[in-house]
Amino acid sequence: MTKTKTKPLKIDGSTGEGGGQIIRTALSLSMLTGTPIEITNIRAGRAKSGLMRQHLMCVQASQQISNATVTGAVLGSMAFTFTPSTVKSGDYTFDIGSAGSTSLVLQTLFPALLFANTNTQTVSTVTIKGSTHNPLAPTTDFLQQAFVPALAKLGMHVGIECVQAGFAPIGGGSICAVITPFMRRADSRPLTLTERGALVGIELVASNLNLEYDICKRELASAKVELLETGMNDTLITTKTNKLNGIGEGNTCYAQVTHEWGDCLHHEIFTLLGEKRTSAEKMGNRLAGLVKRYLFKTDALVDEYLTDQLLLPLALAGGGEFTARVVSKHAETQAWLIQQFLPVEIKLKVIDEQKNLVQVVC
Ligand code: AMP
Repeated sequence: MTKTKTKPLKIDGSTGEGGGQIIRTALSLSMLTGTPIEITNIRAGRAKSGLMRQHLMCVQASQQISNATVTGAVLGSMAFTFTPSTVKSGDYTFDIGSAGSTSLVLQTLFPALLFANTNTQTVSTVTIKGSTHNPLAPTTDFLQQAFVPALAKLGMHVGIECVQAGFAPIGGGSICAVITPFMRRADSRPLTLTERGALVGIELVASNLNLEYDICKRELASAKVELLETGMNDTLITTKTNKLNGIGEGNTCYAQVTHEWGDCLHHEIFTLLGEKRTSAEKMGNRLAGLVKRYLFKTDALVDEYLTDQLLLPLALAGGGEFTARVVSKHAETQAWLIQQFLPVEIKLKVIDEQKNLVQVVC
């Protein structure tokens, strides 16, 4: 871990996408590089601007793992400063105290913990309490089925267990992550996640927390019918229902789409959360729609959300390239922010607009 520098890097939190991601990524990079930061205009463009409970938890948890000095971070703050010291691996527990996203807190912390205590190879465990399934955030399923396998391709080993599921507005969920210090292998080559091989299969999964089982069955049936209408072979589609453990109520469904990638596999996952006044059949239709867009409207391997989430790990692992379906504002902002801290160049180049193909090179 780099020794702490003295001059704070000023970050305008309203830049680009201007959401919570700037705060989280700035914290990760501050801890990784030992750069003090001063963030202003926090989430200025959002309906409820400033630090919400989940963001504040990200600041406080980062403070704890890096023994940082923090000023100005309270609920609703529009600015704060963060000066990290040394990041220490260990066993940590954080409670967001609301239905805030456990995934987003974990994504703030794991990069620094991957690079902590690499000489002793001390593994960290991080337990985070809050929601496991939030709108506008990766669900635990997304992390487990797409993000973690993508990290493994970079040689980064993170294991995530969903201890208890939690949905808004109650939360009450909990995840436990095991983070193994990252050692770049001498023979490691830059990632080239570019060519999409044959479709291996689509797994449709629907899960309920204290709701009727029938909802899951109907979601899966309608998603499957719509996918079969495209002429897809029945044997490529598998379905599974899950009964989640926890307090409160909730429903989620996801599709994990697997393609060959060289001798290995690449997984993309598309997730939806059940909503009151949206039928199970409609959820199934929507899920199938997301899968069809990925299968038939692009040849890219990586879809929208994994694109912005993969940029920092990719930069830290030594670079590489991948093909993306789309460049979101989140991805553009993430690329800009990473380049404020690290001596890397990230290019997001549209190769073929009609085929929705973007080349991402770091
Ligand atoms: P922000 O809006 O700045 O708090 O950032 C939200 C983060 O959640 C981004 O990294 C998005 O890629 C991610 N995200 C939002 N919706 C989804 C979804 N449905 N599946 C996976 N990741 C998501």
